[in-house]
Amino acid sequence: RSLRLDVVSIFPEYLAPLDLSLIGKARRDGLIDLHVHDLRDFAHDRHRTVDDSPYGGGAGMVMKPGPWSEALGHVLAQGSPPAEDHQPRVPTLIIPGPGGEPFTQQIARELSEEPWLAFACGRYEGIDERVYEWAGERMPVRVLSLGDYVLNGGEVAVLAMVEAVARLLPGVIGNVESLVEESHEDGLLEYPVYTKPAEWDGRAVPDVLLGGNHRAIAAWRREQRIQRTAQRRPDLLPPTAATSALSGLEER
Ligand code: SAM
Repeated sequence: RSLRLDVVSIFPEYLAPLDLSLIGKARRDGLIDLHVHDLRDFAHDRHRTVDDSPYGGGAGMVMKPGPWSEALGHVLAQGSPPAEDHQPRVPTLIIPGPGGEPFTQQIARELSEEPWLAFACGRYEGIDERVYEWAGERMPVRVLSLGDYVLNGGEVAVLAMVEAVARLLPGVIGNVESLVEESHEDGLLEYPVYTKPAEWDGRAVPDVLLGGNHRAIAAWRREQRIQRTAQRRPDLLPPTAATSALSGLEER
């Protein structure tokens, strides 16, 4: 099966990295079917205007609703008959925004199970609020934030989200096991990793990793994961676990 992705942006070139590396390969292998649309193609005045000043005043510009409804209508039309029965009819629309629900590995998993995702990249002060209502009447809409900081536009957020989702699709990452032990898959951060040489810059790889005792290695890695999570991201641990893991550390 392949995942269809439609991205609407005023900077289509911003999505060019999706031609590279594993995502580019997944596209060439037919696992991802990506379509990037230029919002300005749906603005019909001489300057192809997509923004205007905000009602009520204030700084910056706001994206006009008209070009957005046309662009999203164009995306929706891709799902209309004569699509064959097995084809999706409407995408889930993702609108990146700093005021959205935090994007997490869990959400990446959910999205990776969908057949069709569309992304609306805002710029300036954002998109006229009525576009969210318009879209919500036609397809499921999720407003998702990359984190508690402000970017200039949604494109970087879309690159991050597409990469997180695409690597979960069967066939995109050769070694499926490498997905299982990663940070955020089971609520713990990943253990530290090492490669050759065994000694470098006067620093040795932990002995346990050189010994070939798989039970000991698994136990060491698990302990490292708990300690690392307690130190860097105590918010990920249940409160008592975080305190005891940290006090265990201080005893060393
Ligand atoms: N005025 C908006 C606010 O305060 O919520 C910020 C608009 S921001 C300058 C322009 C665009 O960047 C947004 O419409 C959104 O597409 C994107 N963006 C900015 N920060 C983001 C974040 N943390 N996560 C996802 N998208 C973001």
